[in-house]
Amino acid sequence: MEELISSESDYQFVENHMREMMNTNPWNPELTGFIIGKIYRINHPEIWKKYVERKKEIAAEVVDENETFVKELRLYHGSPYVEKIVAEGFRIDESKNGHFGRGIYFAEDSSKSNYYTLGGSGNPCPVHKTYTCGECERKMLLCIVALGKQHVVEKFGSEQANCVTKRNSGYHTLRGAKGRSIDNTEHIIYDQRQVCT
Ligand SMILES: [Zn+2]
Repeated sequence: MEELISSESDYQFVENHMREMMNTNPWNPELTGFIIGKIYRINHPEIWKKYVERKKEIAAEVVDENETFVKELRLYHGSPYVEKIVAEGFRIDESKNGHFGRGIYFAEDSSKSNYYTLGGSGNPCPVHKTYTCGECERKMLLCIVALGKQHVVEKFGSEQANCVTKRNSGYHTLRGAKGRSIDNTEHIIYDQRQVCT
């Protein structure tokens, strides 16, 4: 793990991205005056190798005009276990059973992941008892995620996971699309090799 300095282009990229993706709504209100403390680059060659292998598998399964192109996005993950994830990588067997089943959940919006940095519902910051103060330290990950073919849904439901995880489903990710019942788009993977921190 390597700390970035603020004059580096990667540091500026992450800071700008985080501010741009602070998309707010009643469930994820704006953080009041947050500052970015530190940004680290994580190097994990073993995890990267598995990621590249998984991308090749997806490319072989996606049969469209862009056969060799696997869609990837930079997505946020908020969790109180960021340090463990950095050390060991994401683990499906330790992931929570969320509203789209047992998977690893990512948000396009940094404001959405902020909510989960201390554990989500029932876990506001200890000092101010809010999810959005700009003072208490929070850690989140900006990861690269291989999406492949996405099964897109507009309503929550743990049974939706099955559409992706069943044999030969042809899908690699579930996307809960922002709409009437979902406030911030989320992407869920069920294979931990599809993410690299
Ligand atoms: Zn606070």
